[in-house]
Order: sequence, then C-alpha cells, then structure tokens
Amino acid sequence: MNLIVKMISFAVCLTALSMTSAVSADDKSTHSGIKLYTLDCGTLFVPDLNGFSIEGRLAGMSTIMSNPCFLIRHPKGDLLWDLGYQESLADKVDGVTFYGAFHKSMAIKLSAQLAQLGLSPKDIDFVAISHLHDDHIGNANLFSESTFIANEQEHASLFSAESRATADNFSLYSALEKSKTVLFKDSYDVFGDGSALIEKMPGHTLGSAVLLLKLHNSGAVLLSGDLYTHAKAREMNLVPRFSMDKKKILASRIRFEALAKEEAAKVIIQHEKSDFEALPRFPGYLD
Ligand SMILES: [Zn+2]
Repeated sequence: MNLIVKMISFAVCLTALSMTSAVSADDKSTHSGIKLYTLDCGTLFVPDLNGFSIEGRLAGMSTIMSNPCFLIRHPKGDLLWDLGYQESLADKVDGVTFYGAFHKSMAIKLSAQLAQLGLSPKDIDFVAISHLHDDHIGNANLFSESTFIANEQEHASLFSAESRATADNFSLYSALEKSKTVLFKDSYDVFGDGSALIEKMPGHTLGSAVLLLKLHNSGAVLLSGDLYTHAKAREMNLVPRFSMDKKKILASRIRFEALAKEEAAKVIIQHEKSDFEALPRFPGYLD
C-alpha cells in the first residue's frame, strides 16, 4: 500500500469512526426502492450438533444448514452481506467432507447468481460480513474493488499475524487488505438513511455483527449472522462450544431480542434452513 492510499484509507476510517455515534436519519419515505435478495452460498450437513451447545444438549442430533449471502439493492448502491463459501465448491459435484463427517456443498456459484441480475462482482459497491469464518468470507477476493465495511475488531482479527499464519483461510480474503475500507466501532448506517444498519453483536467472534434492514413493504428484517447458529439455538438459548466469548454472546442476544421487538423485525437466522426456504426464492426478493 503506497503512502497516498494509506492516507486515504486512514481518512476513510476516521470518518467512519466519527459517524458511529451519529443518530441515523430514519425517514420511511426513503425506504422504497430497496430490494433484499437471498442468494444460495452453500449448504452444510452437520452430522452431530454436540458442538453447538456447551451443555451438549443437542448431542446425537444432525441437521442441514443453509448458508445464504444477501444482496441489498438500494438506490444509493448495492450491498452484499456475507460472502458464503468459496464458490469453487460448486465445481465439486459431490461437495466436500471435512472434520470427519461434516459435509459442505454448493448448487450454484455466487457470481452466477449475480449474473442473473446482470451484475458482476465489480458492480457491488459495498461488502460486509457478519464475522470472519470461512463460510461467511469465502468469496471475499472477488470483491476487492468494493468498499469493505467491517467492525474494527473483526478487521484487526482478519489481518492479525495469527490469521495470516492460517494460509488456506487467509488466502480467501487477502485481497481485501488493499480495498477501500470503512471501519466501525458499534454500528454503521450503510446508506445514511437508517435503512441498513450494521450492529456489532460480539461473542461468536470478537467483532461479530448483525444487519437490520428496513424495507418499505416487508418492514424490518434482522439478519442474525451466527449470533444464533440455527432455530433451536434461539428457542433454547444455546451457546456453541466454538464461541469466542459465552458471556458476550448472551449479552448480545439480549440486545438483539430487544432490537427485534423494538423494530417488530422479522428475524432471519441465516443458517436455519427453514428461514432460508421461507424467503423469496432467488431472483425473487423482499422489498
Ligand atoms: Zn456460519
């Protein structure tokens, strides 16, 4: 990164940080013309949910999880929320088995779905992730020309020495390091009109986030990231064993539920297959 780019990135970061405390304008009349598309960015078979509850309350149960990406088309630009498994997975007709009997597969590439709307990755103005795990950042390198919106702690984790040492994972998103970047501390109003608010909800990882959308006809929609890994996790308030911080997850869930109630939001648990299937099938959308 040359000095000028560094200076610009720094200025952008400072601007974003200074905006996080600003009260967002929330003028409902400006929320028309926004479309929420749900894209299929992979499927995960979990042979045993034992790891999804610290108390082992789901031991022996299996499930199939969805792994969506979401495209928000706003008059001021296109935002992609979560970047799925790396799309080369779709080339493997039988998918990939890992961690023993876990299995991931992909029916269609993210780029092929964008192409159905006449879009290429270069047309996407903004990308943001709920968190840094590989099922949420797999296609990041396709979007190096987009503006990357990230929580400051999650961004630091992405580019830490420890992350760089895990070469397979780091190579999924290394190109984002030179992207135009907007860092936020607690929350970020993507379009400046209150229609797409990214809220930090830590615990699953240090800088995990959720996305609150306000749509003209469908009302508020709250995308969970992995604050809840599936519907049972919400029903039973179960915390996965692989969580970064159990206390922070529980505190974030209290804030999440309060936000959902306050906004009368439709909650979408991203890995919950029944939530995924209840959304309009691409290229259908909510508006
Ligand atoms: Zn996930």
